[in-house]
Amino acid sequence: MKILVQKFGGTSVSTVDRRKLVIEKVVKAKKQGYSPVIVVSAMGRKGDPYATDTLLSLIRDGFKEDNPLATDLLMSCGEIISSVVMCDEFYKHGLKALPLTGGQAGIVTNENYNDASVVRVKPERILELLKEDIIPVVTGFQGYNEKGHFTTLGRGGSDVTASLLGVALNSEEIDIYTDVDGIMTADPRIVIEPNLIHAISYNEVFQLAEQGAKVIHPRAIEIAMEGNIPIKIKNTLSDSEGTLINSLGEKSKDSIVTGITHVGSRTQIHVKFDCNENSNYYDDIFDMLADNSISIDLINVFPKEKIFTIDSKDELKLMGIMDKLELKYTAIGNCSKVAIIGNRIRGVPGVMAKILKILREANIEILQTADSHTTIWCLISSNDVETAINLLHNNFLK
Ligand code: ADP
Ligand code: MG
Repeated sequence: MKILVQKFGGTSVSTVDRRKLVIEKVVKAKKQGYSPVIVVSAMGRKGDPYATDTLLSLIRDGFKEDNPLATDLLMSCGEIISSVVMCDEFYKHGLKALPLTGGQAGIVTNENYNDASVVRVKPERILELLKEDIIPVVTGFQGYNEKGHFTTLGRGGSDVTASLLGVALNSEEIDIYTDVDGIMTADPRIVIEPNLIHAISYNEVFQLAEQGAKVIHPRAIEIAMEGNIPIKIKNTLSDSEGTLINSLGEKSKDSIVTGITHVGSRTQIHVKFDCNENSNYYDDIFDMLADNSISIDLINVFPKEKIFTIDSKDELKLMGIMDKLELKYTAIGNCSKVAIIGNRIRGVPGVMAKILKILREANIEILQTADSHTTIWCLISSNDVETAINLLHNNFLK
């Protein structure tokens, strides 16, 4: 049996017309001899009646934090509705289909509600259905744990479901259908007409996803990579070939930059030794932040100063810790981390100089930089992100 996992995101299942296009993709796969396994997200995006964010708006602030188990049950509803509505569409087209919750599809997780990790996948029920020529329509983003409770896999978790099933079923490919033609050199919501990337390696797309390109969940890439199952990102609304993700990537690539992305909501923190000379805690700041589950990055340690960034949502928590320890600091909020990604980018002379020049000429202040083998980061004001990404894209990728 040639299995094909086909995952359809929220916008792909949001209207009757779009669900018809989903059926077309599934019918095409069947005609090509595949046994399709469907994974669906909740219908639509925030504001749409059954989207996850809309469901979350039904409960008061603070409920989620105090009741993660109950919240997972609420957050599972969007995908359950979507899977049943999708099955209805299959029946209308004369195809047999059965909706399955994450648990019924055999996705067993731990008890870390809201962001559960998968401990096992038992795909037997799916295989039984495929043998009977019934299309399994699995709710993305969810699992169950050994206590029998629903769990969810974190934002973008339907991609993770698709990869888990792809690997467990040894599928030929994992197709992630969304509302763009594939992975682009930048988010089409920021850059007009970025280039479509035809093929890309797991490693490079992982970097893009990890650094903010929301087109696919980075964990989904890792899982597929471990199982060596190729992924294709495709558009439900077009017949574009899409982007192939495998271990090879693009063989003949002339640009040193693969793509540009960004993470918003960062706050830069400065802690100066001179302002904290009498403190016993200056040397232990990083330990203290870790103990309080505040993750930090872009860390620069100088003899008389420490600079780092945090997620802006942790600002109040940080303030509480620093005040308690009587540590003085300054914060610059509303920052974004722009990431320029390319295989072995660090080894190429002059790239950093070129990036700095482009931003400087546009009067964009660079608050901090960092680099790794594959990525150069620049911290800038969020107000400048769109201009910065467009300029960098024009220079490196046009
Ligand atoms: P879905 O609901 O189908 O999972 P997502 O919103 O999660 O869709 O992902 C698709 C969106 O990802 C696109 O609409 C696009 O704006 C965004 N995106 C961000 N970066 C990129 C990129 N480099 N290439 C393509 N899409 C990107
Ligand atoms: Mg998504």
